[in-house]
Amino acid sequence: MDSSKNKPLTYCFGPVPSRRLGLSLGVDILPHKVCNLDCIYCELGPTLQKTCKKDRYRPIEPIQEELEGLLKRGIHFDTLTITASGEPTLHEDLGRLVSFAKDVLKIGRLALLTNATLLSDPDVRNAVAQTDILLPSLDAARETSFRRVNRPCQELSIQRIIQGLHDLQLEYKGSMWLEVLLVKGINDAPEDIDALKQAVNFIQPAKVQLNTVNRPPAVEWAKPLFLQELQAIQGALGGNTEIIADFRIKERGPAVWTAGDISAMLTRRPMDIHALMSVTQLDSKTLKDMLQDMEDTGMLQRRILEGKTFYFISNSAELPRRPVDASQQ
Ligand code: SF4
Repeated sequence: MDSSKNKPLTYCFGPVPSRRLGLSLGVDILPHKVCNLDCIYCELGPTLQKTCKKDRYRPIEPIQEELEGLLKRGIHFDTLTITASGEPTLHEDLGRLVSFAKDVLKIGRLALLTNATLLSDPDVRNAVAQTDILLPSLDAARETSFRRVNRPCQELSIQRIIQGLHDLQLEYKGSMWLEVLLVKGINDAPEDIDALKQAVNFIQPAKVQLNTVNRPPAVEWAKPLFLQELQAIQGALGGNTEIIADFRIKERGPAVWTAGDISAMLTRRPMDIHALMSVTQLDSKTLKDMLQDMEDTGMLQRRILEGKTFYFISNSAELPRRPVDASQQ
């Protein structure tokens, strides 16, 4: 009997449905929450270690082993997505993991989520070169709005970030889908949209994907735009801009969902009961019983946001005391 089947996952989670990537198997390469930004909308809560220093925050070998083990189990997914409970390009060994996924594991579709802040560094551009899809964020193109929405490390400058995105796009063979997340009254003024348009023209990403606050944010006052407002901005930005659509699930994840699988997923992403049913394909009673058991042990907590109950994990020292998300997928 293969005992690895029931081993709780430490670094990988899902597969979870992603609005952009189909069924996405996530791999989280940083401890919670190391980032060089402290975005007001972040689903992971406040940044705990705000730094621009690249380092080996976690050894890469156990991550590789866990990933290899999962593939041997025959897990189905559309995309392997490298992400972090923070900013993955801060990991010194990101390039090693990307090469391992492509050259050793032969992953067909490898994506990376990044806040784009370190793409001005040629070593980081080399590290991401082998990915198939890059999902960088650019929420503002004016320094003042950048500081308001992303609350960056002092040394970061939005002009350098835009230049880094441009430089990468010149050499990148994969698809770059630039995500812009707009927060009401913070980075959605007409002058912000004009500046974003200029930046997009300079960077020339394959697509621009507009998003807004739709999960519990780091600060309560970060509010979403209405659909009509996003549509007006979509029109202003032009041709290759889309509003990120709802995900569609093609296949189910693990054949048998355990509390450990659900816990690994909720650790990175708070979900309501409908999203959980959709991902796991479990019936309502079975799922509610499992969630109740997890709640009874103190592992799981709930938080209500705009009338929806989100479930999140609360029993790890590494985890925040509020809902978390892998983000941005
Ligand atoms: S949203 Fe991403 S970039 Fe922003 S603080 Fe959270 S982890 Fe960092």
